Amino acid sequence: MIVLLKNQPKETELQNLIDWFRGMGLDVHVSRGSEHMLLGLIGDTSRIDIDLIQALEIVESVKRIQEPYKNANRKFHPNDSVFDVGAGNPIGGGHFQLIAGPCSVESEEQICAIARAVKASGATMLRGGAFKPRTSPYAFQGLREEGIRLLLAAKAETGLPIVTELMDISQLPLFADVDVIQVGARSMQNFEMLKELGHTDKPILLKRGLSNTLQELLMSAEYIMAGGNERVILCERGIRTFEPQTRNTLDLSAVPMLKELSHLPVVVDPSHATGIWRLVRPMALAAAAAGTDGIMVEVHNDPPHALCDGPQSITPENFDGLAKEVAAVRAAIGLGVGA
Ligand code: PEP
Ligand code: MN
Repeated sequence: MIVLLKNQPKETELQNLIDWFRGMGLDVHVSRGSEHMLLGLIGDTSRIDIDLIQALEIVESVKRIQEPYKNANRKFHPNDSVFDVGAGNPIGGGHFQLIAGPCSVESEEQICAIARAVKASGATMLRGGAFKPRTSPYAFQGLREEGIRLLLAAKAETGLPIVTELMDISQLPLFADVDVIQVGARSMQNFEMLKELGHTDKPILLKRGLSNTLQELLMSAEYIMAGGNERVILCERGIRTFEPQTRNTLDLSAVPMLKELSHLPVVVDPSHATGIWRLVRPMALAAAAAGTDGIMVEVHNDPPHALCDGPQSITPENFDGLAKEVAAVRAAIGLGVGA
């Protein structure tokens, strides 16, 4: 971090500032020019509040050289993070997870039939919403507690680990047997929830917010990691742009970019990214080619009658083709097949 000071700073204020930085364990390199004076801060500056320094009387401007996230930063953790997401399935470092299931859990027959079908096609995890974040308060809100119970029944039957969304920290006790907790796009910056999840021992699938930058996504991951939970999976699920033809715009460059910036595994959700079932398969293949560590897709046995997100849900038959093609793409680029 570089701090540019105003002309002729008062010596006592300058010394106080330098002492304060040193007190935070930083080395301070003072460079006095004829016009200006610079302080170069060396060390971990991720805990420094840049706005606070900016507001000081003697400071002209501040520039960060290093990213404001440390735990999620590849610079401090050069190797890919690899961790278990349930049933001994690893993600990251070349290990791939194919996550499939309905937008929302609707009944025991529905979730179990879909779980059996996607498992037979090669899915390694089951998704399904029990608590649903809906734009309209009048839309189906999910089966809630009962939805979690049904997901656990599908897990018991198929052995597939489950991932489902937590919308409020008060729901956490219901998630005791859930393998991976999803933080939805709308909750990505619910910082109090992220802090609490930092104290859990569950992997977290953190979805990118509708209009959030990659740095903001990494800062949200940092919230969880700062609390001690290092098992965060980043999920690109499309962002809002000016294009109305698709529900969102899939930012596939997020995959290699996030992998450059961070050691955390990255998953792509082509269903919410496009909103159109026909686009899910090609975008899943593109995500595989981009080197994603997992793909999460919505699969429904009767999309026209789905209670949520039918237009973007693919059938189990279509998913079967997707799974084969994703495996072929991964093999073609030397990433291997399966989990
Ligand atoms: C979901 O995956 O069920 C979901 C609601 O997605 P998002 O938070 O990305 O909109
Ligand atoms: Mn959905």
